[in-house]
Amino acid sequence: MQLIDIGANLAHDSFDADRDAVMARAAAAGVAQMVVTGSSEQATRRAIELSRSHAGVLFATAGVHPHHAADLTTDTLPALQELARDARVVAVGECGLDYFRDFSPRDLQRRAFGWQIELAKATGKPLFLHQRDAHEDFIAILKQHGVTNGVAHCFTGAERERDAYLEQGLHIGITGWINDERRGLHLREVVKRIPADRLMIETDAPYLMPRDIRPAPKTRRNEPQYLPYVVRAIASARGETAWSVAAASTAAARRFFGLPDPGPGPG
Ligand SMILES: [Zn+2]
Repeated sequence: MQLIDIGANLAHDSFDADRDAVMARAAAAGVAQMVVTGSSEQATRRAIELSRSHAGVLFATAGVHPHHAADLTTDTLPALQELARDARVVAVGECGLDYFRDFSPRDLQRRAFGWQIELAKATGKPLFLHQRDAHEDFIAILKQHGVTNGVAHCFTGAERERDAYLEQGLHIGITGWINDERRGLHLREVVKRIPADRLMIETDAPYLMPRDIRPAPKTRRNEPQYLPYVVRAIASARGETAWSVAAASTAAARRFFGLPDPGPGPG
């Protein structure tokens, strides 16, 4: 079984001490390829560096997270535009709107989002999208720009949001949020009606450790090696085998990001 983790923050400094061991554990768990999230200009540079040194296994996104939207200005935009054109970059983002934390003013979030949508169009690459507590503005901006080629990463919304995204043409990324027996319960319903060719899987490591890992890990740092737990939770919610969820999500991710087939993996 080959899996693709479409959202791993492997450039995060919590992986600096043992990144190679983390990658080896991922490979042993069947995670054949990972898309490293770029959430700021600096994180994007690191994600590209990592994908350069792990060609065919790691790929990068280039973007500025809504939390950092205030950093994206007419002065810094050209650097991001150049990074997005790198051959290792397979999507523009993580970008979008986050009205839950409001770390950046909302008008600057909307401006940064619009710029990155245009950047995705200019490069012909899909969007890696983040949305929290901002559904109405988010979908309005997508419609206004005619966006259809994107993935709503770490989807935690309700059926209404799922349907709006699917209708817009988006893919949907599911994380270990679905493994949470408290706040993830509704997702087990929501995930049933996502077409298999629009469903992709991600850990969002080092965040969102699946809560059903046994024995429970001693650390709270999530890793791509735990992606099979997400696969199993999705499979049980949809009444499918883990194998079929794995095969369909891998095919969807490979098509969406244009990833090469790595050939038979180690496990
Ligand atoms: Zn996010």
